[in-house]
This record gives sequence, structure tokens and C-alpha cells, in this order.
Amino acid sequence: KLEQETILVTGGAGFIGSNLVGHLLNVRPGLRIINLDALTYAGSKDNLSEFIDNKAHIFVHGDIRDRELVDQLFGDYNITGVIHLAAESHVDNSIDSPEPFIDTNIRGTYELLEASRRHWAGANTQGGKFHQVSTDEVFGSLGKEGHFTESSPYAPNSPYSASKAAADMLVRSYNKTYGLDTAISNCSNNYGPNQHAEKLIPTIIRTALAGEQIPIYGDGSNVRDWLFVADHCDALLRIFEQASPGSQYLIGGGYECSNLEIASTICAELDRIRPKNQGKYEDQITLVADRPGHDFRYAVSNSKIDRELGWKPATDFKAGISATVQWHVENRIKH
Ligand code: NAD
Repeated sequence: KLEQETILVTGGAGFIGSNLVGHLLNVRPGLRIINLDALTYAGSKDNLSEFIDNKAHIFVHGDIRDRELVDQLFGDYNITGVIHLAAESHVDNSIDSPEPFIDTNIRGTYELLEASRRHWAGANTQGGKFHQVSTDEVFGSLGKEGHFTESSPYAPNSPYSASKAAADMLVRSYNKTYGLDTAISNCSNNYGPNQHAEKLIPTIIRTALAGEQIPIYGDGSNVRDWLFVADHCDALLRIFEQASPGSQYLIGGGYECSNLEIASTICAELDRIRPKNQGKYEDQITLVADRPGHDFRYAVSNSKIDRELGWKPATDFKAGISATVQWHVENRIKH
């Protein structure tokens, strides 16, 4: 169905967005992709280098809150679908300064929904799908047991997750109120190539190789469910193409790991590929003051997406971490 169509991917110069654009160009060669990204500190054209000359990919440097620009893109390119990833995405930044999160994540999503409504409503135009890419953090924190499911209540604890929760609710309302064909997916922590240096795994790799302290919040026991970004992209495409209007899917990596365990796994991988002259990278791990409102555990049930769309995470965690460490060593570390 997607062949010959033009879709708008927002935030396609960021971590997941750039991996998604690469995936779409590979597996849907007939599809044209308009990649709208404001190139904030988190986005980079370097993430697009592999396909910058591909004619099926059109990069537009602009802001999702720019109504005129978004309107023009919908009209000029006859956009028939949106996969919305553009966001302020770093929890720590949202604690220091929530405003950009409110602006981009809530207002930006609203502008895209309004453009979809304007362009896709009415008898003469064909409605397209609006896919909101969101996070499992909207569900708050779990104790030691249990998993989030599609019916878990929203209980966000950081300004970041609250802004994503608000955007999810707007998307839901545009389906209920205006009949927009929407899908929402909430995924667990991603890792892989192109992730910004500020996030946990790149920070562990960078500080380890620089011989610095590897900072881990609190006692390191907080648990996250890790998903390799390529597996996430595969899930996103299935949802975008197959999900029924108004649906929601959780996407989990199926691999739970404490922050301390993840640091140890990465250190062991670095010991293997870049042994230190003396000692082990693990000796650099340092516990630091906890993040306020730090959710203890996230874990996601994949039952619905497995049952309905036949998706399961395909990448073994050790293999994914190994590929990720390799990528960071080759691309991000000055030699
Ligand atoms: P990222 O920070 O790496 O990329 C975000 C991109 O959005 C950047 O390229 C940035 O330039 C762009 N952007 C920011 N504000 C914009 C604006 N106003 N207009 C246009 N572009 C703008 O984020 P990511 O990790 O790739 O996450 C992508 C999406 O996936 C986000 O919506 C995030 O909430 C969601 N998500 C991420 C994870 C994860 O583990 N990384 C997990 C679950 C959900």
C-alpha cells in the first residue's frame, strides 16, 4: 500500500528517526520520505550521511511548530502518512528546563495533528495514518514485578514523560473526535548507532574510554528494558502499515537489565576489544546522586504486537551491545 506514497517523518535526523529513515529506504524503495527536523543539539546531518544522496529522501530543515511550513509540506508533497518522532527526548534536560519539552512535544504534536486534520479531512482527500512514536515512560514506574500493557494507566513522573503523555492524549482525542486514523506506540529504552552522547549507553562508552568515572545514578539498581533500534524500526513500520485506526501498541526489548549490569556488560565488551594497560573498565564505575523522580523499573509486555502483527525483538542483547559499542568506538571516539 505504501508504494509510490510520500510520508512525513519528523525528527529523522535524531537517533531513532535516522535509523527509521534508513530502514524505510531499504525495505520500501518506492516510498518517498520527507524528513522534517529542526536540527536541535540532538539532531545531526551526520546521521543521514548514508542516504543523503538518495532521491527518495528529502531533508527539510525546519520546525514541527512552524504551521506555514508544515502546511506547505503537506500540500506540496501530498503527504499521506506521518510518523512523528521529533521531540525533546532527554529526561535530565526536562528536569533542568521543562519548557522546550512542553513546546515541542505538546504544541509540536498539536500542529502536526491540525495539519493532518486540515489536509486529510473531507470527501475529496484520502486520509492517511498519523503514527505517534512515544515511550513506555508515560506509564510511570513499576515495582519488582509485572509489565506495562496497553491498558496500563498513564502515570508519568518527569516533565519529559508528562509531555509525551499529553501528546499521546492529543493524538487519541483526534481519533475519537475527528476520526483521524491514528496509532500510538510506546517503546522501551532504545540503544544502537546514532544515539546522542548524552544518553546512558553512549555516556558509559565515552567515559570508559576517556579513563573518566563512569557515572551511574543512585545504587545502580534501576531496571530498564532494552530494545535494539533496528528492531524498533521494524515494529514501527508494521504498526504504521497495519495498525487499525485508534490503536496503541507497546514495544519492548524483552531484555531487562539494571543500570549497573548494563555498565558492567559494556565494560566487559570494551575489555575484550580495547583492553586497558592496567585494570578493568569496570573499576571506573562510580555511583552518583540519584535523578529526582527516578522511575525504578520499566518493563513492557510484547503480547499484543506479537499476537496481532507478528513482531518480536530479533536482536540478542549481547550481539546488539557489541555492535553498538563497535559503532561508538569507530564513529564517536577520537583516535
Ligand atoms: P533524539 O533526541 O535523538 O531525536 C529527536 C530529533 O527531533 C532530533 O533530530 C531533533 O533535532 C528533532 N527535533 C526536536 N525538536 C524539534 C522540533 N521542534 N521540530 C523539528 N524537529 C525537532 O530522540 P530519539 O531518541 O531518536 O527519540 C525519537 C522519538 O522516540 C521521541 O519522540 C522519543 O520520545 C521517542 N522514544 C525514544 C526512546 C529512546 O530510547 N530513545 C524510547 C521511547 C520513545
